[in-house]
Order: sequence, then structure tokens, then C-alpha cells
Amino acid sequence: MKPPKFLTYVSKRLDDSAKLFVLVAVTVALTSSAIVLSADFVQQRKINELNDLAQRYTAQLRQKIHDQEEQLLNIAGRDDANNFVTFGERAKRLIEENKSYLHIELRDETGVLIAQRESTSAKEVWPFLARQQLPPSVLLSFLRASEQQKIYWAHSYSTTGRSDAEMVVPSRNQKNLWVVRIDVSKWLPPTSGISLPADVQVTYNEHRPESLGPVLTVAVPLELPGNDSHLVFSYATPSTIKFDLTSLTLAILGLTLCVLLIRYALETKKNRLAQETITRQEMALVKQSQLSTMGEVSTALAHELNQPLATIANYVAACEMRMKSQGYEDPVLRDALQNARQQAMRAGEVVQSIRNYLKRKPNVMATVDVKDMLKELEPILMLSAKEHQTQLFIQSEDHLLARIDPALLEQVVLNLSRNGVDAMVDVDPAARKLKINAYTHTSSNGSVWVRIDVEDFGHGVSDEAAASVFESFFTTKAEGMGIGLSLCRSVAESYGGRIRWSNNAAGGATFSLFLPKLLNA
Ligand code: ADP
Repeated sequence: MKPPKFLTYVSKRLDDSAKLFVLVAVTVALTSSAIVLSADFVQQRKINELNDLAQRYTAQLRQKIHDQEEQLLNIAGRDDANNFVTFGERAKRLIEENKSYLHIELRDETGVLIAQRESTSAKEVWPFLARQQLPPSVLLSFLRASEQQKIYWAHSYSTTGRSDAEMVVPSRNQKNLWVVRIDVSKWLPPTSGISLPADVQVTYNEHRPESLGPVLTVAVPLELPGNDSHLVFSYATPSTIKFDLTSLTLAILGLTLCVLLIRYALETKKNRLAQETITRQEMALVKQSQLSTMGEVSTALAHELNQPLATIANYVAACEMRMKSQGYEDPVLRDALQNARQQAMRAGEVVQSIRNYLKRKPNVMATVDVKDMLKELEPILMLSAKEHQTQLFIQSEDHLLARIDPALLEQVVLNLSRNGVDAMVDVDPAARKLKINAYTHTSSNGSVWVRIDVEDFGHGVSDEAAASVFESFFTTKAEGMGIGLSLCRSVAESYGGRIRWSNNAAGGATFSLFLPKLLNA
């Protein structure tokens, strides 16, 4: 499946570190959302847990209350239990047995108080001294209990303003009813005897609470007939950590993913760098082998050329001697023969020097006066300049000395000049100029150089060629070999110098050779 165009577009425009940043950001965002979602999930689960606990607790409490209701119904149903003397005894025992019973009253069917019992320590209290009238809410339950002969519940307030639940128990065949006031705090842990985790709080409410306040709260009705009381459950610390094991696992997974992504990105970068190094080394090897092939070719060439060059020189020398011995005096011819012999010998030396250089044999070192060297080279440069309708300008400082193999230095100047002439083939012949200028150059760190500038007015070095001009076998010419500049740079560097170029503002290029200047020759 192809990735969407948009992704490919974005991916092409981002570099590796930006991609990594985006990946890490996405992972962090996904992990955080997963954690938040899991926190919601945890919250919901906690509510469910609280609800389960609340239902279980309330069911057990209801069962207890139900048992007490049954017991009271039984007792109140007995004939003798409604006699106010025996009532006192029974109520006393009931209060002793059940800590939640605060107060028990015996009333006749019209609600008139017959007897009451307050607590184990309190004496039996005669009706006239205590509450005579039932509070309205209790009275209603009293009437309903009496009418329907079943237990009803109500609420009443003590003289101190405390609200307690009251249970109204009919005594079936008798006409009396019992009213039992209950201490609701005894329905809560730990007195209730029903277990609840320590971090869960429970309170008693007369009615269903209007709002449940904190999120982690659950209200469960006690379902007592005639009464709307609820138990409200909540966690002791509502801000308990919302993140549990699920969130922690997600966080760890997200973090691990981030670390893996970063490691992967670093590995990829390392691999790419290693790959680039290998490619560079391979290219260097290829170049090396090309150079050694050149070395072999030039050795063969030197061998083949040296012989005929020496023979030419010998023949020319023989001609000169012959002229002399025959007494034939022609100064023009004599000079021509002398030049021809010198050039044949020079050609032999050049071939030999390049061969030595390519075979990495120690080259000849000589003190070269650049001005003299340029003067000797001028006829050859002139020949090539004339051939290409180019004006030649040579200028040099006096006493410009350098230590170098003279044949190689000549070769460098010839190469640079040849390139300059080549660069001007498409220029109007009237504008073809090649300037060679040799002078002393002092660099910013104080070192002193022999500098030879070769300036042309050709097409200049193009942007595409700029980075590669010194590479072996790089050429933009149909007939070019791409060896010249690479050789020039190697020669310059092996004699402690360097070679630089720049395009001229007025067009064309200037190549400059720098060699350490010999100061105290
Ligand atoms: P070749 O002359 O065989 O091409 P070189 O190594 O001497 O090999 O030159 C390499 C390339 O550098 C040339 O093909 C040319 O593109 C560029 N170059 C060299 N000298 C000049 C110059 N004076 N002006 C413009 N381009 C040049």
C-alpha cells in the first residue's frame, strides 16, 4: 500500500532529526492520551468498586435491622410484654443487648405514653415525666403501624437537636405499640460490626442527598418503610491517585517506545555514516587503482618515448656537428637545430619526471628562479597561444626562488595555461588574453609564498564543476582526460604548496599556485 501523498511530501521535507522529533512527539501524545483515558477508566472502576462495597454493606445492615425488627415484633406481640411492669424489664434487657437502642417507649393505640426505658443505668421513668406527645412524623408512622399492623419508621429530634430514627412496632392482638429510638451512628463502622475498607467513609442521611458532591460518592437507600434514609459512601481521600497499574504500564510502554525510537534513529544515522565512509573509501580505492594504472601506462610511454626522443636529440646534435665540420655557417639554421635539440631533451625530462612522480619515486629538488623558468617556457607557451589566437602576457618579480623539480613546475604552469586557453575557445579572438603573473605573497599568518597566477577571460568554472575540478578524471571537455589539475594539486602539495582558483569578476578564472618561497638562497 502506498503512503498518502501528503505524508511522502512532509517526509521528504523533514530532515532526520525533525522526523525523530515528530515521532517522539506523536508517541508522547499517544501515551499521554492513553494514560488520561486509562485514568478515566480507573475512575470509573473505582466508582464501580465503591458501589459494590456500598451495596454489600447496606444489604448486610438491612439484614441486621430486619432481624431486629423480627425480634421486636415477637417480643411486642407477647401478652405479658405490654404490661408496663414487665415492659420495663424487657426494654432494659433489649437496650443492654443492642447498643443501637437508645430509648424504648410503650404507648397505647392512641399514642398515649404508658411506660418508657432510657438506658441500662436509668431507672424506669413514669409517663408523666417524659415526652407525652409523639412528634408529628412519628405519630404518622404510629398510626400507620397500628392500622396495618406492621413496622413503620420515622425520624425524631432529641431535646439536644439530634436526629434519630425511630421504629414503631405494633403488638398484633394487643392494642399497644412500642416506639424504639435508634442511635444511627451505631449502624456505621466499626460499631456496626460490618467490615468496610479503611479508606471508605460512610455517613447516615435522613434523606437522599440532593447532590453527591465529590465524584467518588455513592448513596444507597436503607429501604425502611415510612423513612427515606440513605447511607452515603465515599473514599476517605477523594484525590487518591487516579493512576493505577494500567496507567503505569502504559507510561512505561510509551517511555520504552520513545527510547527505542531514539535508539533506532541513532543507529540508522550511525549506519548511514558508516555506509558513506565505505563509499568514500571505495571511491578512493578506485582512484588509487586508476592512478597506479596511469603509473604503469606512463612507465610504458616513457620507455617508448625516451628512446626516440634521445635519438632525435642525437640526430640533431649530429647535424650541428656536421654543419660545423663542413664550415656551413647559417645562424638561423644553427639556432633552430639547437632549439630542437634542447626541446627534445626537455620532452624526455618531462616524461621522466611525471613517470617518477606517479611511481612515487623521490623527485629531483632544485632551486628554481621562477622568472628564469617562465622565460624558458615562454616560446612553448607562445606556440600554443598563437595557435589559439590568444595574447600572452607574462610578468614576474626578480629573485623569486622555490625548491621544486623544475620539470614538474613547468608542467604545472603549462597545464594551467593550457586550461586557460581551452576555456577561451568560444570567446571572440580579440578578447582572448592569458596573463601569467609571478610574485611574492605573504599570507595572514606571516608565511611567505611564491605565487603564480594564471588568469584567463574564458567561461570560468561552472557551479556544477566547482566542487570537482581537482578530482582525477573529472573533465568537462570532449577530449579531456581530467588529469591535469589533479596532478597540479598533487605536485603543489608534495612540495609544501597548494593551488587555489576563483572566477574573475570580469569573466574567466584565475588559478593560483603557491609554493614556499626560498628566502636565503
Ligand atoms: P582536463 O583539462 O583534461 O579537462 P583538468 O584536470 O585540467 O582536466 O581540468 C578539469 C576541469 O576543470 C576541466 O574539464 C574544466 O571543466 C575545469 N577547468 C580547468 N581549468 C579551467 C579554467 N581555466 N576555466 C574554466 N574551467 C576550467
